[in-house]
Amino acid sequence: MKLICNACKLEVSKNLTELKDLNLLDENSGKDYIPQGFFIIDDGQEDIQTKGFIIINVKDLINSNYHSDGSRLNGCCGYDGLDGMNRVCLNDHEIGTENSDCWMPHYVALNPDLINFVQS
Ligand SMILES: [Zn+2]
Ligand SMILES: [Zn+2]
Repeated sequence: MKLICNACKLEVSKNLTELKDLNLLDENSGKDYIPQGFFIIDDGQEDIQTKGFIIINVKDLINSNYHSDGSRLNGCCGYDGLDGMNRVCLNDHEIGTENSDCWMPHYVALNPDLINFVQS
């Protein structure tokens, strides 16, 4: 499966399969939360506001830029994602939030209202 931006249908992820073995998730700070090539749907246990969001590895995001609003791009050495969505597709549509600062596990949480799965 791939993910596309709902607004312009641009592909925004590499080919992904759902991760079934949740033991492969790494919750350590500064590490990739999910291995490359996989996605999970957030069950909302950690943060109810991201329930239903699609979680992927930062390296699996393609055709994407950082938000043009610099106030969304805070962080000490990466992006902390605390100020709203910080990633957009190449056509500037908001798609989700990259969390990549040193004090958090690294991943991208894509908003299910703004993206869709397509068969690849
Ligand atoms: Zn778009
Ligand atoms: Zn940092």
